[in-house]
Order: sequence, then structure tokens, then C-alpha cells
Amino acid sequence: MLESLEGKKGQPRFKPPFPAQVGAFGKPTTINNTETLASIPPIVRNGPDWFAKLGVEKSGGTKIYSVSGHVNRPGNYEVPMGIPFRDLLALAGGMQEGRILKAVIPGGSSVPVVPADAIMGCTMDYEGLAKVGSALGAGSVIVMDETTCMVKVLERISYFYFAESCGQCTPCREGTGWLYRMIKRIRSGEGTHQDLDRLKSVADRIEGRTICALGDAAAWPVQSFLKHFRHEFEAMIPSAEAA
Ligand code: SF4
Repeated sequence: MLESLEGKKGQPRFKPPFPAQVGAFGKPTTINNTETLASIPPIVRNGPDWFAKLGVEKSGGTKIYSVSGHVNRPGNYEVPMGIPFRDLLALAGGMQEGRILKAVIPGGSSVPVVPADAIMGCTMDYEGLAKVGSALGAGSVIVMDETTCMVKVLERISYFYFAESCGQCTPCREGTGWLYRMIKRIRSGEGTHQDLDRLKSVADRIEGRTICALGDAAAWPVQSFLKHFRHEFEAMIPSAEAA
């Protein structure tokens, strides 16, 4: 965004320096999302303690969760931090057509997927989601029912990161394309058993080795989908290969 504001190609900058020190046109710049800015007036009016007490001990305040997927009432729900996932699901009208929950991506496509049994006992806050191996991320809660093909979901997610990579760093530029092509190959029934190990290997080598968070965002879904739903990927590999 800062690069674009300055009339350059919109791609991530090396950090440090962080924008608070050197931002737009070389000046200290504060960057916040609108949710954060919208919280400021009531905090100024009522005090920080009032806001913090709306949530739970380490995750204070409220949070807007954008619930999408197989729910009856997708939408934005501003609720106290720490709300149990099952209560958020109820607010969103429950599962469509009474189907069974299969998995949830609780913080936008970049965070690790959580299987149903783990998310149903989870609270929607930083600590609760960390306990089940995921993260609050952007608060974009993607709900998937029992009919969902997890290979198809991961193919779609991987395509997004492949398309969005700006190409500055090699692990992301080459790795995102590699991930996408392997998942596509598996979904078309032409994958091999080695592809599964290679997927994890490529994702592990992208993680933590890039300029911006998009590299991690591309790696984490692959790692978590393989961890929790490897059997669905294996089922798409021709039997001669899977042996
Ligand atoms: S991680 Fe990807 S999107 Fe981010 S700077 Fe590197 S190549 Fe660009």
C-alpha cells in the first residue's frame, strides 16, 4: 500500500525499518485496519478497562468475525473476544440444511485449518485458537460441512497465493506455483504418493523464508490440510501409486 501511495509497483517492503519509523514518503506512518480505528472512539469515551473487560483475560475487547461458508446466515458478527465457536456458529444460523460440520478455517485462508471436533470445544480468541494449532488471523471464519472436498479447497487456496505472489523472493515465487501444480495434479487423479511428501517439504521450505507474510500464508494451509486430511489426498492418488 505504501509503495502504491508513492506511485511505485505495489509490492511488500523489507522490514525493518517498520512503517512506524519509515513509512509513506520516508515519514513515520501509522497503519491500522478500519476495525481497529472504529474501536477508538468508544475506548476514549469509556476507558481501556471497559473495553478490555468485554473480552477474556488475554484477549480483551470485541472482535468482528466474518462468517462465511456452509452456514445459514453468513455475515459480520461483532461479539466479545473469547466467544465459544459453537455460539458463533449459532449466531450465524447453524449449519446449512442441518449438515454436519467438517472443518473450519478460523482466521482467513492463511491460517491452519481446524477439524470439527477441535473447533467445537474452542474459544474464538488468540489463546483458544493457538491451543488447537491455528490463529485468529483476520477473523474470517470459513465454515465447511461434511460434503466439502478438502483437496479442492486446498487447490483453490493454493491458486490464490500462487496468483498473488509478487515474485520478489524465490521461495514464494517458485514455491507457490509448485504447491499449486502438485495439488492440481493430485486432484486430477495424476498425483503420486511422493507428491504428498514433496508438498510438505516445499511448504516447510517456504515458511519463514520470505520478505512478507504471504509465504507463510501459502505454507500453513498446505501443512495443516495434510496433517488433518491426508487421507483425502491419498484417496485421490491412483492405487498403483498409493501402494
Ligand atoms: S513472500 Fe511472496 S508476496 Fe511477499 S514479498 Fe516475497 S514473493 Fe512477494
